[in-house]
Amino acid sequence: MAQITEKTLVIIKPDGIQRSLIGEIVKRFERAGLKLVAVKMVVPTMEQIEKHYTLDPSWRQKNGEKSIKGYQDKGLEPPTDDPLEMSGMTLEKLKKYLSSGPVIPMIWQGLHAVAIVRKLTGGTEPLTSDVGTIRGDFVLDSYERSDVDKRAVRNLIHASGSVGEAEQEIEHWFSNGEIFNYRLVQESVLYDVNLDGILE
Ligand code: GDP
Ligand code: MG
Repeated sequence: MAQITEKTLVIIKPDGIQRSLIGEIVKRFERAGLKLVAVKMVVPTMEQIEKHYTLDPSWRQKNGEKSIKGYQDKGLEPPTDDPLEMSGMTLEKLKKYLSSGPVIPMIWQGLHAVAIVRKLTGGTEPLTSDVGTIRGDFVLDSYERSDVDKRAVRNLIHASGSVGEAEQEIEHWFSNGEIFNYRLVQESVLYDVNLDGILE
């Protein structure tokens, strides 16, 4: 069962910072009731970025298959039929994108943190991300355009895709000493069985 201590990793990517959206992005997670338990600014190295995307050994295969299918669904010829070669190309673009400036990794904690953050983040491609989500409301990129320009799609933030992915990614970006255990007063309203102590 989901725990109220569930954690997820969010990274505000370089375009999110350049677009002055740090506050807006933080606000959306904060107002949903999630608790910020770690945050810092870093310029990631190429190695850090490659490791981030390949923490799941099946990522190369799955990401490659997804991208190839994306081309085929649009009636376009993919640059290669080999999923590993395809994701290798994507990875190079992601390394260039994410190392182009400072990024802000953060850990958000709360009930269903992973799924709630994914919902607020929206789908990967801004062209089709739902209105009301971060990617749907604040950016306008597409695979079509980013593929022609041979760059990664600019989608403002990264958010862990599953609880397992979140655990690995948190360990990759943060040391234990950088993660805080503390109580938020609003947690009793979010999680207590009885709303005692409101009426005087
Ligand atoms: P996320 O979890 O929503 O960020 O998406 P994924 O983990 O599936 O993909 C990671 C990154 O790979 C995305 O941010 C994109 O840069 C890239 N990517 C994923 N799917 C596609 C695709 O179908 N086409 C292209 N061109 N890039 C993709
Ligand atoms: Mg992902």
